[in-house]
Amino acid sequence: MNSPHSTSRRKFLKISALTATAFPLSNVGAFATEAQNKPIVISTWRNPDANAAAWKVLQANGRALDAVEQGARVPEANPNDTSVGYGGLPDREGCVTLDACIMDEKSNCGSVAFVQGYKHPISIARAVMEKTQHVMLVGKGAEKFAAAQGFKKQKLLTKESEKAWKEWLKKSEYKPYHNPGQHDTIGILALDSNGNLCGACTTSGMAFKMHGRVGDSPIIGAGLYVDGEVGAATATGVGEEMIRIAGSNSIVELMRQGLTPQAACEEAIKRLIRKRGEERAKELSVAFLALSVTGEVGAYSTNDVFEYTLTSPEKIHSVIRSDSYFK
Ligand code: ASP
Repeated sequence: MNSPHSTSRRKFLKISALTATAFPLSNVGAFATEAQNKPIVISTWRNPDANAAAWKVLQANGRALDAVEQGARVPEANPNDTSVGYGGLPDREGCVTLDACIMDEKSNCGSVAFVQGYKHPISIARAVMEKTQHVMLVGKGAEKFAAAQGFKKQKLLTKESEKAWKEWLKKSEYKPYHNPGQHDTIGILALDSNGNLCGACTTSGMAFKMHGRVGDSPIIGAGLYVDGEVGAATATGVGEEMIRIAGSNSIVELMRQGLTPQAACEEAIKRLIRKRGEERAKELSVAFLALSVTGEVGAYSTNDVFEYTLTSPEKIHSVIRSDSYFK
């Protein structure tokens, strides 16, 4: 565990007060991480293939929005990734239900939740953003929209995921809290050569969740938030916790006030821990990842399990271990 809660809180407040007053936006010293040169893409967990797909777009001078969509589609299509898209672990009724959202540099956004039978919810979310006057479609409505847009319906429950579900049914114990293997949402953020910042987030949600449960991943401000003038943040882990503190939006707002992405991610995790208390929070796997418009990266998690993948001209698909509150 870190230094006692009250001490780190005092230390944080002292540093953030200093940085907020003495340094201009995105230029704070205390927590500053080395800025990467553009273009940049970062994604939650070990996702080199997703980063490679996004990087292909960015290297061709493409748009960050296309990069994050292409990146997110990689785990969505991978049957061996059991927490995103095709092959995702089902809810307790055996249904694979998907959530996703996407957001661009002007804060245009689109989202779908509780979607069944479509492997690429991120592209449906983008279609919601670009082709409707709405931000979010859910369930049958989202599926009807997907069909009208020409998305192909398919079965998403693989033999392996069905087997895992049947095994789970024997005890029916819902213990998502400290089990990263059961919740590895991809959140992906990209800054393109023109300085545009975009993000995407896609998941099958917590394995064996209640039917109808929606987590943070499709909620703008919780699982993802982008402000093209400031920075972007995304999340993975127990989604109820990120919703409670509007996690990704809070991080971007902290960055706007002058905190580095690293300091902002740390404050969001500490905020959550203050609300939950350390004993309970130890059981909660929650992680945030952030990127500023100046190319600084931040990552922080409750417990010591989180890693992320970074691609920039200096670092090609590097998997980096995040710092955490509990060691
Ligand atoms: N955040 C996701 C959710 O709560 C789970 C995950 O990160 O894998 O649905």
